[in-house]
This record gives sequence, C-alpha cells and structure tokens, in this order.
Amino acid sequence: MADFPLEELEGKTPLEVASTPAMDEISKRGLIGLHSPIPEGIPPGSDIGNLSLFGYNPKESFSGRAPLEAARQGIVLRPNEVAFRCNLVSLRDGVMFDFTSGHIPTEISRVIVREVGEELEKKYPVKFYPGVSYRHIAVVSGDTEGFVSSLESTECTPPHDITGKPWADYLPNGPASTLLISIMRDSQKLLPEHSLSKKRVIEGNPEPNSFWLWGQGKTPAMKSYKELFNLKGSVISAVDLVKGIGILAGLKSIDVPGATGWLDTNYKGKIDTALSELSEVDFVFVHVEAPDEASHQGRIDLKIRAIEEFDKYIVAPALEYFIKRHGEMRLLVTPDHITAIQTKTHAGGLVPFAMSGVGIDSSGVNKYCETTARQTGIMYPETHVLIKNFLTNVPFYIGKPQNL
Ligand SMILES: [Zn+2]
Repeated sequence: MADFPLEELEGKTPLEVASTPAMDEISKRGLIGLHSPIPEGIPPGSDIGNLSLFGYNPKESFSGRAPLEAARQGIVLRPNEVAFRCNLVSLRDGVMFDFTSGHIPTEISRVIVREVGEELEKKYPVKFYPGVSYRHIAVVSGDTEGFVSSLESTECTPPHDITGKPWADYLPNGPASTLLISIMRDSQKLLPEHSLSKKRVIEGNPEPNSFWLWGQGKTPAMKSYKELFNLKGSVISAVDLVKGIGILAGLKSIDVPGATGWLDTNYKGKIDTALSELSEVDFVFVHVEAPDEASHQGRIDLKIRAIEEFDKYIVAPALEYFIKRHGEMRLLVTPDHITAIQTKTHAGGLVPFAMSGVGIDSSGVNKYCETTARQTGIMYPETHVLIKNFLTNVPFYIGKPQNL
C-alpha cells in the first residue's frame, strides 16, 4: 500500500490520492504515525516485513524464507535439515526466462515436482514437497553439523531478481554449492522429459525446465503468542509465507475459499471469517496482498483501486465491528513494506500506520497517508516495538509514545 510521491499523481502517493474513508476514520479517532518494518541493511522482503508486523524482531527471528513457507505446509524440520524454496522455473536462451513457468497450474506442477523429485531423492540427500503453482519446498539434510551450516551459508539468488539475466552467473555460490548445483543441473535433464512438461510446451507455455533452489534456512527461533503475550489468535491470508509465520507464532491459520492474493480475492469471506473468529480468539491478523501485486505490475490505477477496495471491503466492516465494541479492543492498519510503482519492486523505509482503541489518544488527523503520518512526528524505528506495545495494551499518548 505504501509508496513514494509520483509525478503522475502530481507529487502525491497512491494512498494519498485513494478514497479511504474507513482508514481516515481510524486515523481521526486514534493515532497515525510512521514505522520501519525493514531494518536498515536488510533486503526488503515480505518475510522480513511480516515478521515485524507480527511483533518479532527480524534481526533475531529471521532465518530464511523457506522455513516459514515450510511451516505452512506442516513440514517439521529436524536439526540436520535445511529447507529451500524450490521454484519450478523456465530457462531459455541462457537466461532466466520466467521464474513462474507461466504461472504453471498447481495440479500440473505438483505431479511434475513429485515425480522428478522422486528421481532426485534416489541420488541426493533431499526431499521435495510439492506446493502451489511454481512455489515448492526442497528439504536438504546434512550428516555433519559443519555441512548443515554450509548449506545455510551458501549464497542463493531469488529467481525473481534475475529475470532476463544469464542464470549460470547466479547459481549457488559457497561451501555447499557443488551439491546444490548438481541437484539443479540434474533437474534440468529430467524436467524437459516429463510428459506434462512437454504438454505445457505444446500448449504454448514456457517450458518448466529447472528447479531453482533459494531462500534456505532452519526453523527460526520464535516464541509463540501464548508465551509472549498470552494471546490466542488467528491469521487470514492467501499467501503461504504469512500463514507460515502465523503457524510458527502458534496462531490458527484459516483458509478462506476464494482468497487469491489479487484484486479478485474474496474480501467479504476474509473479513466475515476474521470477525467471527473474534468471538473465539483475542487477536486476528488479516493480510491482503492485492496492492502489492498491482505495484509489481507498475499499475497506478490498479493500485489505487486495490487500496480503495481494501478500505471498503475489509477496513470498513472491521471498523463497524470495532465501534460496536469500543472500549474493549484495538484496531491497527498498516502495510508490511513499500512496493514502489516506479521500480515495480519492494523498498525499505518508513510506512504509515493508524490505530485506535483502548488507551490510545486521538490525534484528530483526517486522512491516512504517508504525508499526514510524517506530519505527526510519531515514528517507531523498530516495528516490533510498536506491535508489542499495541498487543499488550501499553497506552499511547500524543507526542509521547511509549518506549520508542
Ligand atoms: Zn511484493
């Protein structure tokens, strides 16, 4: 949702231009300010941003993207195992042609990954777990502690960062690279021979012809919400990564039918589920992906639409519920990082939040956006501090937020 001022919008941000009466109301009733979900010097991934939003310090809790997604699949890693994200990618003419293999359908990719995976499992200490579309998990095990840590420290490149670039320049690099490259090279021999790969090509799709291993790590050390805050909670998202963080936090992950991560998502299903959960649990984390995806496409119009729909279909019903139960709860709205229209990718930096409820002063600011948030002067350099205070009912006073 967050962005930079754009020339096309006469120096305003998409959030500033969008009509967002519900988020504006939260800002008016409560406080608006800035926080920094991506610590300086760390790549601005959704993994980092969302760990912060769940109230964890990513400098302590982040140990790779793959173990978070593996948790979502119910994969429990042993101490000698390292989870890798395994993309089913399409290489062509020596470059990374399509890191999604043409958004390969799940029912096809699962068969390919399972069958080709079985062949590779005979030869290497690896196990494949088919996931969704092009996104799968490979768990590699080591027989010595030294080898396990070399798996962790080998440098692997996210395939979405090298679209159109010579892939051979970006193969795993480091102490375990020989094993990882062998697995990838062997997959390149087996995948094009699979009947479903051939069928995809005949149907005019990019050939799914390589596994690409990256984002590796061991299960992060994360205390549960029960231990940290004595809270029971649920997470609602279309994205495996967010669900995985929730599961590791000990929250219940709920699959809402029709939640797609795009503009056609089932907004109503998500918020209805969230509000009915609140009769059973203390806390609900609702994640909507569409503004991020619209930004990756560089589409200002779609981004504004995604923000307005989020406000209308998610925030407005939440606010209505909140008003009914005022005096009993807190409500907070915020993005997990900037996704910039201009560069079509994520960026670090400050993003706005608005929150209202028990023990939170009112700043009376009428609009929720980056500009008004900056004007209040309220700024949390570490997002996890803001969230922890929010969850533990620490009071927030204007001009003097607690424990900055
Ligand atoms: Zn994104």
